[in-house]
Amino acid sequence: MTIPGSVAATHVDFLVLGAGVAGLRAALSLAEQGTVLLVAKDAVAESNTHYAQGGIAVAMDGDADVALHLEDTIAAGDGLVFRPAAEALVQDGPRRVAELIEWGARFDREDGDWMRTREGAHSRARILHAFGDATGAEMGRALRERVRTHRKVRIAERQMAVALHQQDGRVVGADLLDESGQVHSVRAKATLLATGGAGQIYCETTNPAVATGDGLALALQAGAELADMEFYQFHPTALHLAGAPRFLLSEALRGEGAQLVNERGERFMRRHHPLLELAPRDVVARAIVQESVAGDFDRQQEIYLDMRSVPGVAWNERFPTISAVLARYGLSLTKNRIPVYPAAHYLMGGVRTDLAGRTTVPGLYAAGEVAATGVHGANRLASNSLLEGLVFGARAAEAMLADTALLPVAEDGAIFASECSMLAATDADRRFAAESTTRMQQMLWSAAGLFREEATMRRALAELETMAAELRQRCRAGRPWREGLEAMSIAAVGRAVLQCALARRESRGAHARLDHPKKLAENENRHTLFSLARGVHFEQW
Ligand SMILES: Cc1cc2nc3c(=O)[nH]c(=O)nc-3n(C[C@H](O)[C@H](O)[C@H](O)COP(=O)(O)OP(=O)(O)OC[C@H]3O[C@@H](n4cnc5c(N)ncnc54)[C@H](O)[C@@H]3O)c2cc1C
Repeated sequence: MTIPGSVAATHVDFLVLGAGVAGLRAALSLAEQGTVLLVAKDAVAESNTHYAQGGIAVAMDGDADVALHLEDTIAAGDGLVFRPAAEALVQDGPRRVAELIEWGARFDREDGDWMRTREGAHSRARILHAFGDATGAEMGRALRERVRTHRKVRIAERQMAVALHQQDGRVVGADLLDESGQVHSVRAKATLLATGGAGQIYCETTNPAVATGDGLALALQAGAELADMEFYQFHPTALHLAGAPRFLLSEALRGEGAQLVNERGERFMRRHHPLLELAPRDVVARAIVQESVAGDFDRQQEIYLDMRSVPGVAWNERFPTISAVLARYGLSLTKNRIPVYPAAHYLMGGVRTDLAGRTTVPGLYAAGEVAATGVHGANRLASNSLLEGLVFGARAAEAMLADTALLPVAEDGAIFASECSMLAATDADRRFAAESTTRMQQMLWSAAGLFREEATMRRALAELETMAAELRQRCRAGRPWREGLEAMSIAAVGRAVLQCALARRESRGAHARLDHPKKLAENENRHTLFSLARGVHFEQW
């Protein structure tokens, strides 16, 4: 099927969908040997990467340090980390970070050495940061500047990938929708999904608006398998103010000593975990929710981050971005307790890949937050995802180069259209898409959020299927339309999350079932896989 409005295809060697840390890093290696089109759905810097604050975890002190980083990653992943993936992460990590520093990334230094912070579930201080709390923005800047020096990389901003092209079962490019509603076809020897996470499936999220999970929906449509979709990490401390976005208050604040207190000023983490505020994220997030409804309050109790009595930290200088945002709301790290509550933050699951980014569909690769290598298991260790983008972005590029060395650029092929091709939508269609999106986000937050149970998830799944069917019905042959497609992505990803969460009848890592509170020993290293053809099944890795 060809989408009306398509214009003549562009031919490149490599198509990279997404310009966060994973896409940028991959593009740099790919450009050594071929032409690259690097696509961003919005402005090139707008990505989860740009908002990453706390830092990048990396073992800079030799083999023993690498071994400890591996241990911490495996422990945080709660019985589901695929060990070879974690080994790849921690072993390749120092080399990839050193390379980035050589390319101009300015991590913070003190007395001639790197400044390092400790975050939750890390056994030592190993988090590098830049400009205090602007690590992702600095990494993105350094990578983009290097990409721009490459003649062979072209950046296409504000283009949304809306469909993948397939020829004889192989992905050979994609359709991109621009802001004017025109569709451009791109043919490539290999296509990398580096489209990031899907925080926007929830109404409470730290992720920017671009994170609607499009890459996951595209992969499903192309026949790829997703893995571990029930594992969504909820960050414990997003700003909790009516009318304000759920701005992240980095774990590094707790790493520097900030305490979590309830309205009575009690440091309630004492009742929940020996590591207190630096317990694994899922433990802290659930403790906050439980504490907020505990006690004799007739309303939800506020929970606060409190650093006012912590000595020896120049909070405003150490966290300039956070301080500036809080100032907009009349709050100060040194003078006020800061109201916090969990929000959806990071997808541990994603498009299933091997350690070189190969998905289950030839020609289609995935790296970064959109991919599931098993590196994070059931819960990601703080600050491991920027590192993941660097390491697995580079690995995916190597595989794309090796696998396509003898291939010509694909000339033609059937376009595998996305489910939702919409003719210039009517006002009623737009209203319906907007209302469905809000409804799906709220439903997924209550059914597939921090606490889950069968009956609520089944009800949500049924309602979501009905809404997706109506959205599909409103899709007519014609030009695709961004908000409609994003609503379809949310429906597709939400369905995968619910189905995997229903199938996993235990509580593990970020997945907490009220009706199955125990962790089952037989589920150690058993991963959920989801595809349109097979639904959910389990596999041992
Ligand atoms: C507020 C916040 C703070 C964080 N702090 C940290 C931290 O301190 N340390 C850490 O390790 N991790 C942190 N993370 C997580 C980390 O930032 C991300 O996991 C990581 O940056 C993801 O990188 P990525 O390249 O996979 O995707 P992203 O950086 O999200 O990039 C995705 C790209 O895909 C593009 N895209 C999406 N859909 C489409 C489409 N349909 N067509 C074309 N392009 C598309 C987007 O435009 C974007 O360019 C944080 C995340 C957030 C949100």
